[in-house]
Amino acid sequence: MDFTLTKEELLIQKMARDFSNQSIQPHVERMEKENRTFEEIISGLADLDMFAMIIPEQFGGAGAGYISYVLALEQIARVACGPAFIISAHNLALSSIINFGTEEQKAKYLSKTARGEHIASFAFTESATGSDPKQLTTVAVKDGGGYVLNGAKRFISNASYPGPLVLFALDSESKKPTAFIVEKKCSGYSVSEPWKKLGWHGGDLVDIYLKDVKIPAENVLGQLGNGYPILQYGMAYGKIGMNSIALGTTLAALEEGVKYAKEKTHRGEPIAKFQAIQLKVAELCALYESSRWLTYRLGFLAANNNDYKNFAKEAALAKFTVARNAQEAARLCLDIHGSYGLMEEYAASRIYRDAAMGPQIEGVLHLQEIIIASSVLS
Ligand SMILES: Cc1cc2nc3c(=O)[nH]c(=O)nc-3n(C[C@H](O)[C@H](O)[C@H](O)COP(=O)(O)OP(=O)(O)OC[C@H]3O[C@@H](n4cnc5c(N)ncnc54)[C@H](O)[C@@H]3O)c2cc1C
Repeated sequence: MDFTLTKEELLIQKMARDFSNQSIQPHVERMEKENRTFEEIISGLADLDMFAMIIPEQFGGAGAGYISYVLALEQIARVACGPAFIISAHNLALSSIINFGTEEQKAKYLSKTARGEHIASFAFTESATGSDPKQLTTVAVKDGGGYVLNGAKRFISNASYPGPLVLFALDSESKKPTAFIVEKKCSGYSVSEPWKKLGWHGGDLVDIYLKDVKIPAENVLGQLGNGYPILQYGMAYGKIGMNSIALGTTLAALEEGVKYAKEKTHRGEPIAKFQAIQLKVAELCALYESSRWLTYRLGFLAANNNDYKNFAKEAALAKFTVARNAQEAARLCLDIHGSYGLMEEYAASRIYRDAAMGPQIEGVLHLQEIIIASSVLS
């Protein structure tokens, strides 16, 4: 397999890195404190087509594909995971619309999301379930030519922004999970105050309340009662973003660890001279390289593979490894910093908090092990 990046891919990677250094980095401290991504960052990301990457050109997208997406998101997450997660959750929802939507649904919902005027969401989790679709309680009752939705969704990303929301509910006809496209901010739609998360500050996370939300029948995504495959597909393709964020976090841990090892001195010599520090740096390099190839390969598979079942297993395998590597890398980075790494003034403490997020989201790590084992043992 040849992973030499094309000129275009290198350019996209560089653009994302430059933008992150110049236009996100100066705001990270304030973003951490205020827990929001500023409008100028969203519009700058939109100008770089970061919301349009996986959307086909015929629907107003950039058609850049999953490899470029991985490269760009890694660089953004290296500086700040909040904005990276906004893009990742947006693309998780869009992957479902692109794969299961009708031509009319794609024409209606993709072009504004490509421009970043609308930001997409995906709502499965409820207070009683984050891993088991059989426990859904949100309902969609047939009403004339459409459906009336009632229920509440927990921990939904991007739900405060206008745009399409792929929402899972039990429909009154099939009595099974069905996916619907809901326009956020419609009548009967409301959200909670933002959750105060441990990490990924700046990423929008709220609960959603649906009170007699009316949607037309043409907003059913896929077939009635067929929500589960859409959920599985979204969770698998969503992991491309999750892995890219964990990879960016690992890169940040490596860069910050190396920087500090060269800057901090003891008896006039940098601590990089200590073999104990060198061993940690070597381990950081190994963690980053193994995560890098797994994540780039996942982008490659998404761009070139139509075998969905195999992709779901590969995505689970990558997430299981890359999310844990990020945690280990963050711990090593903290170790290199000694007590300074515990201080908010140092990036190492943010990286440590950010690395804790991935293993618990979009399928906890145990579920990844179950997906891997059931694929191998079937
Ligand atoms: C920042 C953030 C963003 C999020 N964004 C979204 C979003 O946009 N849309 C959305 O729908 N959700 C979102 N979520 C929710 C998230 O995906 C779920 O919370 C997550 O899947 C875990 O579900 P849970 O918290 O209910 O944990 P549970 O499923 O209750 O798991 C709790 C524990 O039980 C274990 N466990 C559960 N089931 C099994 C099993 N079958 N076998 C073995 N062990 C098991 C787990 O490993 C875990 O240790 C987000 C969460 C966060 C924190």
